[in-house]
Amino acid sequence: MKLIILAAPGAGKGTQAEVLSKHFDIPTISTGAILRKNIADGTTLGKIAEKYINDGKFVPDEVMIDIVKKRLSEDDCKNGFILDGFPRNIAQAEALDKADIEIDKVLTIEVEDEKIIERLSGRLECKKCGSSYHKEHKKPQVSGVCDNCGGALTAREDDKPEIIKDRLATYYKQTEPLKKFYADRGILKTAIGQEDISDTTAAVLKALEG
Ligand code: AMP
Repeated sequence: MKLIILAAPGAGKGTQAEVLSKHFDIPTISTGAILRKNIADGTTLGKIAEKYINDGKFVPDEVMIDIVKKRLSEDDCKNGFILDGFPRNIAQAEALDKADIEIDKVLTIEVEDEKIIERLSGRLECKKCGSSYHKEHKKPQVSGVCDNCGGALTAREDDKPEIIKDRLATYYKQTEPLKKFYADRGILKTAIGQEDISDTTAAVLKALEG
C-alpha cells in the first residue's frame, strides 16, 4: 500500500500513521519528524528548517522534494509506505507524479478546528524518538517520560497558540486543495476523527477498505 495521509495539523495523522505502519508492516515517512531530528542534531538542513517551522511556515518545496525522493528510493519502501506530512501543496504532489511515484490511496482525517487547537496545545513529544502524547488524552505511563524509549517529553516549539493559528491558515490555503486534486483521481478516502484514538483507527481502516 502506497498511502498519503493528508490532514490538518493536530488531526492525528502522526498517531494514525504509526498505527497503520504496524498494521500494514510498511514504513512511515514523516517529513516533520525528519526535520525535527535534523534540528535536534544541528545539521545544515535543521538550521534551514528551524526558522520556517518556528514561524508556522512551510520549508521550501525543493528541499522537501529532495528529502522525500531520496527516502522513498530506499529498500524498505519497495513494498509500500505511508507519507505523513508530504505532499503539503500542489507543487509537491506534482513532484511525486514527475518522479513516477504512484500513490494507491490518500487518507484525510477530518477534525474540527476547535478540537485541533485543544489537541495541539496539550500535545507532548519525545525529543529522542518522536513519539507523540497528550497531557489529557494520551498520557505516558510515567509523567514526562516516553513509554517507547524513556526520552524526555516536551511541547513542540510550533505548538504555541500563536504559531498554531499560522499553521492552520497555511494548511487551509495550501494543503486542503490537495483533497480535490486526489478526489479527482478517485483515490481520496475520508475518515472522521473521533475522541478516542482507537475509534479513529477503526474509522480510518474502514475508510481505507473502500
Ligand atoms: P508536521 O510534523 O507534519 O506537523 O510538520 C511540522 C512542520 O515541518 C510544518 O509546520 C512545516 O513547517 C514543516 N514541514 C513538514 N513537512 C513539510 C512539507 N512537506 N513541506 C514543507 N514544510 C514541511
